[in-house]
This record gives sequence, structure tokens and C-alpha cells, in this order.
Amino acid sequence: KESLDKGLEKTKESVFKKLSRAIVGKSKVDDEVLDNLEEVLISSDVGVDTTLRIIERIEERVQRDKYVGTDELNRVLKEEIVDLLKENNSTDYDALSLPEGHGPYVIMVVGVNGVGKTTTIGKLAHKFKDAGKSVVLGAADTFRAAAVDQLVIWAERVGVPIVKQGMGADPASVAFDTLSKAKAENADVVLIDTAGRLHNKINLMNELTKIKKVMQKVIPDAPHEILLVLDGSTGQNAYEQAKQFTLATEVNALAITKLDGTAKGGVVIGISDQFKIPVKYIGIGEKIDDLQVFNREEFVDSLFN
Ligand code: GDP
Repeated sequence: KESLDKGLEKTKESVFKKLSRAIVGKSKVDDEVLDNLEEVLISSDVGVDTTLRIIERIEERVQRDKYVGTDELNRVLKEEIVDLLKENNSTDYDALSLPEGHGPYVIMVVGVNGVGKTTTIGKLAHKFKDAGKSVVLGAADTFRAAAVDQLVIWAERVGVPIVKQGMGADPASVAFDTLSKAKAENADVVLIDTAGRLHNKINLMNELTKIKKVMQKVIPDAPHEILLVLDGSTGQNAYEQAKQFTLATEVNALAITKLDGTAKGGVVIGISDQFKIPVKYIGIGEKIDDLQVFNREEFVDSLFN
């Protein structure tokens, strides 16, 4: 929680400043305060639709409770946002505990270059390994030599095996080899890196579909999870990428990175709500331990004073 507070410092500071301005000279939450609040949330990258949902909830609260003081606004806001996040983000499950008797649990990791995909895979491998799981990595981002090299470095750092082929190899073939190895060794988790080329929607869809089909030759219900990595510091761009990837494939988990060093942490709330996908992990730094399993209460608590 301490590192989360620290990681979200910039967003927290920015939200705090804006909120203070929004309620200055006001003792009661009224229409004007609500209008100001709407602006605060939108300018904090929460997204228009999600902002309106939050405002509606606060309006209802004000009506129900008759009087809500501006000194209570933070608390009310926290409660309503945590409740809103509940729709897609259960804290009842542990993201690191995998279904039993399953064979290797296959996570296909997607996202555009530079968002922190490789780093997230490395950090995640470390987390699973720490939790006592055996992990196999697959370097199926074969379009960039650097991507494979980076993942090899992470595999060595974490101490997990990696399957790779030469530069320019068929990503689906790498995925096939990776799953075969994981199955033969009865590994617990497979993390497959993929190329994040968004230049052409149809290409992206075809590529991901092909990788999935080939995976299913080894493990019929793979991939069990499609994890989209988004760079939180890009704000609106992250929404656009979420849109493109959800159109191309069935994304069912999100990792939002680089929340340290940005004031745009509100994207976590908006993206999860807008795309109805749980945020499973958040990245709050470059180091191996700087990936956290998302907890909606802790997150919202770190965001508002
Ligand atoms: P990829 O191209 O998507 O595989 O991106 P990389 O994993 O190579 O990451 C790109 C850069 O972002 C690297 O310099 C990482 O160290 C950095 N990075 C990744 N995640 C985080 C994070 O949560 N916080 C910060 N500050 N940097 C990150």
C-alpha cells in the first residue's frame, strides 16, 4: 500500500488540487459543485461516460442524504467509485491463484510496442514464481529483435525458461513450441508475448486469431486469459488502444502501466468501466517488484485524500 501511495502520488496531488478548487467557498455539495466535479473527473482522464455515471451516483447520494457537506465529498466520492469498480473488479479472487487441475494456464499478452508489455511479463513471471508456480515464457513478438532480447534478459533475471526462435519467425510457431514445452513439463503458467502492431486492424485480428488457433492444437481451451497492457500515462491514447484491441480479440484482463510519474491515473477507473474488463495488474515503476495486483479499494484510497 505504501508503494502504491507513492506510485500514485502525481495523480493524487493533481486530483487533490483540482478538487480543492472545485469546492472552494462552498460548504454544501450543490449543482455548481457537481459541475465542477464533473470537470475535475474528465480532466483527470476518468473518461466522459464514466464521469457522468459517477456524477449521477453523487447526485442520488445528495438527494437521498438531503445534505452532503463538501468536507464529506472525498469520502462519498471514494465510496461511489469503489462501488462502481465492483461491477468489473472483484477483490474476492486472487489474480495469482490459478484454477486447479487445469494443466498450464495460458496468458496471451497483447498491446502496442512501448507500453511496457515485456516488462510486465517479466514482473508477472516473478510474481508467479514467488507464489510457487512454475512459469514458461514464449517470445512470440518476433518482429523486433529487441523484443526477444529483452524478454530473454527478463527470463534470466527471474530464473524461468523461455522459448524463442529466430528473428522474423512465425509467432504462432513460437506459441506452439512454448505450449508444447509447458505441457510436457506440466508447467503452471505460460506467458506469451505477442507483437503489438496496430497499423492495420484486420492484420492484428488475423495474427492474434492464428496464434490462438495454433495454441489450441496443443491445449484446446488456450488461451485462458488475454491480457491487454496499456500505458496509463498516455491517457486518451490508452482508451483508443483498448478500443482497437477489444475489437480485434476477446481481451479479458487489463494491466495498466506507468502510473508512477503521471497525473493520468484516472484512466484505470474509466477504462475498466467503459470496456467492462477487470484491471488485474497495475505498473508503478520499472523495477521487478513494481507490479501490483489491482485492488479497487486500495487504489481509490490512494487516489483521494
Ligand atoms: P514493450 O515495448 O511494450 O515491451 O515495452 P517495455 O516493456 O520494453 O517497456 C518500455 C519502457 O517502459 C521501459 O523503459 C520500461 O522500463 C518502462 N516501463 C514499463 N512499465 C513501467 C512502469 O510501470 N513504470 C515506469 N515508470 N516505467 C515502466
